[in-house]
Amino acid sequence: MEQIFDVVVVGSGAGALLAAIRAADAGLTALVVEKAEVAGGTSATSGGGIWIPDNHDMARVGLSDGVDAAFRYVRACARGLSSDERILAYVETARHMARYLDQLGVRYKSMPKYSDYYPGMDGAMPGGRTMDPADFNGALLGLEGLAQLRPTNPGQLILGRMTLNAFEAHSILSRERSAKLKLMWIMLRYAVDYPWRRKTKRDRRMTGGQALVGGLLAALRKRRVALWLGTPLKSLQTEDGRVTGVLVERDGKPVAVRARMGVLLAAGGFERNQAMREQYLPKPTDQAWTATPPGGNTGDAIRAGESAGGALHLMSHTWGAPTLSVPKEDRFRALFVERSLPGCMVVNAAGRRFLNESCPYPEFQQAMFADQASGGGAIPAWIVFDAEFRRKYPMGPLGPGEAQPDHRLPKKWQGSVYWKADTLAGLAQQIGVDADGLAASVARMNDWAASGKDLEFDRGGNVFDRYYGDPAVKPNPNLAPLAKAPFYAIRLYPGDIGTKGGLLTDQDARVLDGAGQPIPGLYCTGNNSASVMGPAYPGAGSTLGPAMTFAYRAVAHMAGNP
Ligand code: FAD
Repeated sequence: MEQIFDVVVVGSGAGALLAAIRAADAGLTALVVEKAEVAGGTSATSGGGIWIPDNHDMARVGLSDGVDAAFRYVRACARGLSSDERILAYVETARHMARYLDQLGVRYKSMPKYSDYYPGMDGAMPGGRTMDPADFNGALLGLEGLAQLRPTNPGQLILGRMTLNAFEAHSILSRERSAKLKLMWIMLRYAVDYPWRRKTKRDRRMTGGQALVGGLLAALRKRRVALWLGTPLKSLQTEDGRVTGVLVERDGKPVAVRARMGVLLAAGGFERNQAMREQYLPKPTDQAWTATPPGGNTGDAIRAGESAGGALHLMSHTWGAPTLSVPKEDRFRALFVERSLPGCMVVNAAGRRFLNESCPYPEFQQAMFADQASGGGAIPAWIVFDAEFRRKYPMGPLGPGEAQPDHRLPKKWQGSVYWKADTLAGLAQQIGVDADGLAASVARMNDWAASGKDLEFDRGGNVFDRYYGDPAVKPNPNLAPLAKAPFYAIRLYPGDIGTKGGLLTDQDARVLDGAGQPIPGLYCTGNNSASVMGPAYPGAGSTLGPAMTFAYRAVAHMAGNP
């Protein structure tokens, strides 16, 4: 028998859940269908940051912003690859969406020192637009709700159990005096929480993407919105050019669901689909390099929307990031911040630096492709650091040596996760990098560290770079010599945290056809759609902010309240 809802949402990432909640709040019936057996997609495994210009929490941290400046900034970032109408809709609506999250109990804090990614551009802010989720009490989900929530990445867990919010992570990475106390408090609080731990090993204190999606899932459950897990979308149903519903597979059987007001596609990108990667993305490309959950986002709903007449846009773009592999982990880890700390540098096969190591992660990935294309051999690239760096700071899966010395690392990691040698020449030989090139690059880096000025790539030359530097290191918090043996290296790939090309939409998230006309009944958000940011990444939270903002607008449009 055909099932009928007002709104059908495909996927269960942040945008999807927010849409279903908003539909319920507007008095509509909603259904969420999710392919996996758990809800939350990559969103649940993310940092949960959202980029919200002129947000309600900026005043608390003494900042002010304007929609005009944000519009100019995003417009310049997007380089003509996103329409003005969509950009304006985003910068105007994001703050309302963020207030709505607050009302739902999904609270966010503005990060006053976390700069936009291109601080030199017109309209950029040196901080405040990126917001980090406040910690969420997972117990509010109940055990049944908790079992529905996709757990986070292994790489985000301390001792396999606890997580940090972005403020704590920054404090620990920049070696603030209070950092150790904060870490001890987090561990102590977990250790003494016997009543909850008797029920589950998962920490009730949720941060990042777990706090965001945990909070949304709690709001969804409170409203008793139907959530069908293990239910993939198979195709869209259309009548006279209008999308009228979906065909899904439930318990191995096809089920038709009618959507009276609209279908919102929010089923992620195509980063886990090797054939689509090869069709659209720069080469070489490998689905193993992405940091998103295995098997999840295979572009099904992009293809379904295309079959219904939807136009595709930005298909050669990803939310790029360098990634690395750790044995026994089912996905690569993104290397977001450690590469910015002083005493490390990144080289290609010639042993040469080819980028500013502290640059935004999408630029990092693009620089790898550019260097590879010009014959430098940056795929893979190597991040090289010395014993002093190893002692003080984390790098990927290696905790700071003062807390986790080499002898406490799994033996098999040497030669598979990290490489180590007493001399730079020995290291170069192990990793197959030109030894003379590496020696010359290290000598140059050591000069830049002494003068504080990186004359090659200006690392540490702006407020964004310096955010993840070490303020105790002078004269440049991002630069220190690589002088003390042994020397280490870790292999990096041009990975991603999702793709950003998909169905082209308008300012209300309506899917457009090849002639630029909306397809009635069909909406799309998140990485299922072409990003409002065009090819750029204006600031941390540029994927989740738009995913939820356009979900918010889509439902308003469906409900006749644009
Ligand atoms: P997802 O959250 O991946 O959800 C898509 C869902 O659709 C999945 O559950 C999938 O199983 C489901 N699905 C797929 N196919 C079907 C089908 N046929 N039928 C039904 N369901 C289907 N971005 C930020 O903005 N801020 C951050 O702080 C941030 N941190 C990150 C940290 C990490 C480690 C990673 C990996 C990513 C991070 N990102 C961040 C990126 C961000 O997580 C993603 O871009 C975002 O979650 C994409 O949201 P989405 O809703 O489009 O897709």
